[in-house]
Amino acid sequence: MTHQLPPLPFAPDDLKPVISDLTIGFHYGKHHQAYVNNLNNLIGGTPYEDAPLQTIIQKAPAGPIFNNAAQVFNHTFYFEQFKSMNEVKKRPENELLRAIEKSYGTYDKFVEAFSKAAATLFGSGWAWVIRDQDGGVAITQETNAGCPLAKKQIPLLTCDVWEHAYYLDYQNKRPDYIKAFWDILDWSVIESRFRI
Ligand code: MN
Repeated sequence: MTHQLPPLPFAPDDLKPVISDLTIGFHYGKHHQAYVNNLNNLIGGTPYEDAPLQTIIQKAPAGPIFNNAAQVFNHTFYFEQFKSMNEVKKRPENELLRAIEKSYGTYDKFVEAFSKAAATLFGSGWAWVIRDQDGGVAITQETNAGCPLAKKQIPLLTCDVWEHAYYLDYQNKRPDYIKAFWDILDWSVIESRFRI
C-alpha cells in the first residue's frame, strides 16, 4: 500500500490572515509530504507494508514508522478542519455543544482551557479534543507525533503547536497563533467527527 498526500479542502491562500499561503506551502507541501514519503520508504518489507494508517499507528512501536504514520494522520486531521474565515461554522451546536458545556461549563471556558493546553505544551506537539467513552469531551496534550488513535481515543479537534505550524506567520508568539486559530476552525467538521 502506498500512502498518499490527501488534497487540501481549501485553496492555499484561503486561510489568510490566520495562516499564510507561505506557511501552507511549507507545512503541507513540504512537511506533510515528507511524512508521507518517509512512511512509504520505511514500511517497505515490514509487517506494516500493506496495513492501513490507523493500524500502523496502533501497532507500531515507538520509533520512525510510528512517528511518520502518526504525523501523516495528525496533519491530515489538522488541515481537514479549516476553511476560510467567511465560510466556517463559528460555534458548535446541539449534542457537541452540550458535551462541551457539561465538561467545561461554557463554550468560552472550553476555548480558554484548550488554548491554555496548546500554549503550555512544552516543545513540539499537538493539543487535542477527544471524545471520551461516556460521549463527553476532554482536552489532551501529546508531545512530538503523539496521536489519540494510539490510545484508542476518538479525536475531534487538534492544534499543531510544532514551530513549523506558526513560525513564518507569528514567529515566537505561539499564543497569537492559537488565538487566531479559532477563526478558521469549521465547527461543522468537528460536529461530524463527534457524531460518528
Ligand atoms: Mn505540523
